[in-house]
Amino acid sequence: MTSDKVAILFDIDGTLIVTDGAGSTSWSMAFKEIYNIDAQIDRYSDIGMTDPEVARRTFEAVIGRAPTKAEFSRLLERRMHYLTESVQDSKGYHVLPGVEDLLPKLIAQGYLLGLVTGNLEAAAHIKLHRASLNRFFSFGGYGSDSPSRTELTILAMRRANVIYGGSITHDEFIAIGDTPNDIIAAHEAGIECIAVASHKYDVDTLKAAGADFVLASLLDELPFKLKM
Ligand SMILES: [Mg+2]
Repeated sequence: MTSDKVAILFDIDGTLIVTDGAGSTSWSMAFKEIYNIDAQIDRYSDIGMTDPEVARRTFEAVIGRAPTKAEFSRLLERRMHYLTESVQDSKGYHVLPGVEDLLPKLIAQGYLLGLVTGNLEAAAHIKLHRASLNRFFSFGGYGSDSPSRTELTILAMRRANVIYGGSITHDEFIAIGDTPNDIIAAHEAGIECIAVASHKYDVDTLKAAGADFVLASLLDELPFKLKM
């Protein structure tokens, strides 16, 4: 048990939902359409990386130079165009265990819920739309805010304070994510992090990565109470 919390910052992929490759499929479709290249995104990026980082690294790897601003803009647009259909068509898309009960329960209890994700803002909403989960999140930090997960976490915290007109302190925030990158970013932003072992990383790996708490899934009870 830790100090009482006010605001909870949720990662999306591997924490709330799994799109089962829809994200990387849409990048590949964009590279195929524009450059007629088969780009295997997963070869050039790590899980938990922000979209701008993924795009830049893949472009540099397959084209052999950095993209111009115009090329980058076109690539992002084509990728989001294809993301809508690849999320819709994804056979393995699912909401992770516990999420659909937990989110309305947390809102009813009085928590402020936000997103911290490497997805571009529109991509985050495309992914959550299929499961009707956008409505729970009134603020967030996105890959379109910064290629750095630490920076976008700090921005999400600022936005929570803007929206709710208060001064939520660092120890009243907590992040929930599924990768070592999420843990590092939360700690660099000065807040605690719960890691959920419901996707690619197991409990021991997430403990070793320094998570303040590790849950097997979001069916488990959260290790804090609401600050009154
Ligand atoms: Mg994730």
